[in-house]
Amino acid sequence: MRLENKVVIITGAASGIGKQTALLFAQEGAKVVVADLNEKGGNEIVEEIGKAGGDAFFSKLDVSNREQSKQVVREALERFGKIDVLINNAGINQDALVSKMTEEQWDKVITIDLKGPFNCIQAVVDAMTEHGTGEIINVSSIVGLYGNIGQTNYAAAKAGLIGMTKTLAKELGKKGIRVNAVAPGFIATPMTAGVPEKILEMMKEKTPLKRLGQPDDIAYALLYLASDEANFVNGAVLSVDGGLLI
Ligand code: NAP
Repeated sequence: MRLENKVVIITGAASGIGKQTALLFAQEGAKVVVADLNEKGGNEIVEEIGKAGGDAFFSKLDVSNREQSKQVVREALERFGKIDVLINNAGINQDALVSKMTEEQWDKVITIDLKGPFNCIQAVVDAMTEHGTGEIINVSSIVGLYGNIGQTNYAAAKAGLIGMTKTLAKELGKKGIRVNAVAPGFIATPMTAGVPEKILEMMKEKTPLKRLGQPDDIAYALLYLASDEANFVNGAVLSVDGGLLI
């Protein structure tokens, strides 16, 4: 097993990419903290992991709330005694052309998608430093690398997350903490469920692999970065997009 006895906090783990990652990581031997706003969905994942013989618990978390971020870390330490991996996956989008984007839409996306990971990293960093090792993986987006019409707020947050990843890879490397990011392309999850079929078809057509990504595609990339196999990978941004933008 590739994550045997590693303790992993996954934010936004009740749905989509986070859910698939929680299930895969548990299968690979990790003890998983399913941290999400969605209590019902989160508890269902915990139950599924338990039935398969894994170890997990749910912790209610709004990543934009600094106190709740600290609370999740406290609970993880109480229950499992250490934290090896933090996956900053929770995220939202609220799209509008720039002339129509409201201040609320801007603030909400920046607060959840950019400040949220910062809150969780700050909450976990002392425990990882004390432990002498740790992996932090930020779920960015190809939109953070290349931009996208109607997503000024989301692109700014996801590009900011890449800047944060590279900065912290430098700052925390000497403490034994690796910091990396993945940049998914279009992935079939509830987040993209509302995208018109015409756009999704266009995306498939533009992708050399001629399909949308599945949550599993990202979960396996996260598994690699979280595992000891990636022990010399630090500050990387791994695109997982079927070659959409080459
Ligand atoms: P998803 O299916 O919508 O799942 C996101 C999860 O995060 C949901 O369970 C959601 O709960 C939770 N969440 C939302 N706001 C939260 C908050 N403030 N605190 C804690 N949890 C919160 O989305 P996904 O497609 O799996 O996306 C996961 C990550 O991948 C996001 O960061 C997204 O930006 C990124 N990404 C996705 C794609 C894609 O094509 N799907 C592409 C590139 C990057 P509720 O359901 O209760 O809101």
